[in-house]
Amino acid sequence: MTANLVGRAREFATSRLLGREDYFDGLPAVPTPAAAELHRAGLANWWLPEEYGGMGASLRTGVDIVSELSYADAGFAFASFLPVLGTTMVHCFGAPDLAAEYLGAMARGGGSCAILVSEEEAGSELNRNQTVFVRKGDEIVLSGDKQFSTNTDSADFLLVAARSADDPSVHSVVLVPRQTEGVEIAKRWNMQGMRGSATYQVRLRDCVVPAHHALEGNGLRVLEAGLNASRTLIATTAIGVSRRIRDLSMEYAAHKQVKGAPLVDNAVFAAKLGQIEMLIDVMRNQCLAAAAEFDELLAAPDPAAVLYRTGATRSALSAKMYCGQAGWTVATIGSEMFGGLGYTNDHLITKLVRDLRYVGLVEGGDDVVRDLLFSRYVLPRAKRR
Ligand SMILES: Cc1cc2nc3c(=O)[nH]c(=O)nc-3n(C[C@H](O)[C@H](O)[C@H](O)COP(=O)(O)OP(=O)(O)OC[C@H]3O[C@@H](n4cnc5c(N)ncnc54)[C@H](O)[C@@H]3O)c2cc1C
Repeated sequence: MTANLVGRAREFATSRLLGREDYFDGLPAVPTPAAAELHRAGLANWWLPEEYGGMGASLRTGVDIVSELSYADAGFAFASFLPVLGTTMVHCFGAPDLAAEYLGAMARGGGSCAILVSEEEAGSELNRNQTVFVRKGDEIVLSGDKQFSTNTDSADFLLVAARSADDPSVHSVVLVPRQTEGVEIAKRWNMQGMRGSATYQVRLRDCVVPAHHALEGNGLRVLEAGLNASRTLIATTAIGVSRRIRDLSMEYAAHKQVKGAPLVDNAVFAAKLGQIEMLIDVMRNQCLAAAAEFDELLAAPDPAAVLYRTGATRSALSAKMYCGQAGWTVATIGSEMFGGLGYTNDHLITKLVRDLRYVGLVEGGDDVVRDLLFSRYVLPRAKRR
């Protein structure tokens, strides 16, 4: 079922996305028609396990798919793959009938889910989040304000991180169908990049769901398990955008004259492009390494237990931080490449630079990732290698 998925993703990106950058950069209404086309092309939610009717593609395959999609539009790619965070949590930590119902529908219909974690005051200190749930008999009631959430308005269901109103030390992730009363979109953010995706501020007011919609385990740990997949793919968008910057530079350099010769013959240009190629190669290797580790954990006889025990993997944290930084280096070279035109909104490079910036910010900025690497992999002597 996964045969040539990467080739099909390349064909989809080339025929449906490429050349439509102005449209995607213009905060289009979502879901875009391209999302439905992705489903019709048999590519939506490519990672969903076969037991739910999905394609069951590995995260390694996902790395190359996301590189292809984000070559054309990183925002569209982000909206397409981000549900992997929610579906991984539901697959591993949801009750079997809950997972079958929601992931099965997603595999059939090509829909999406959204993740509501970030809050204004707590920031990355998720243990200070204020969204609360109360258990009332067979039901759970949730209330709170979420600062950022991608895909929420068009999602079929939401994964909401909340703490117990009775015991603030208890965190949970709860599945909330999008149409649940009390889920209100406060606004869509006017993001500087990734504008082909839609990120919202969301209010939750007395949202009632059945008690079995709460995933098993400490919500913050459950999140970490899923974040390994989405952080790896966020990192991967830097590969696609960097490849695009490389190719744009080559097209430009074929015609641009410097010192009486095409720029492409210039040694300084060659050195820059050689540097970019090295960064692309190392970014891909690190993303594939992180994906391979995740695939291995997910293939364990009891993936939920193994992922829960492991928490945030070093390889996924490193991939996200490295690709954010390496991608930014490529973006800097790229923005100088086209002279003054490269600083105008008339040139595509400006969008690519804006899009790339998100890699080092979303799902933990570099300060947060460094802190996690230090506390999880440097401080515990046994984990050093
Ligand atoms: C395009 C986009 C899409 C998003 N989609 C979603 C989504 O779908 N769901 C969701 O829940 N969230 C989403 N987010 C939120 C995103 O994950 C957070 O914005 C990001 O993780 C940073 O967290 P923060 O905004 O709380 O800022 P903080 O992490 O709180 O950062 C604020 C400041 O505090 C500093 N800081 C924080 N922690 C440390 C530390 N440990 N050590 C030193 N300094 C520190 C930072 O460096 C920074 O200067 C999205 C954001 C964007 C931009």
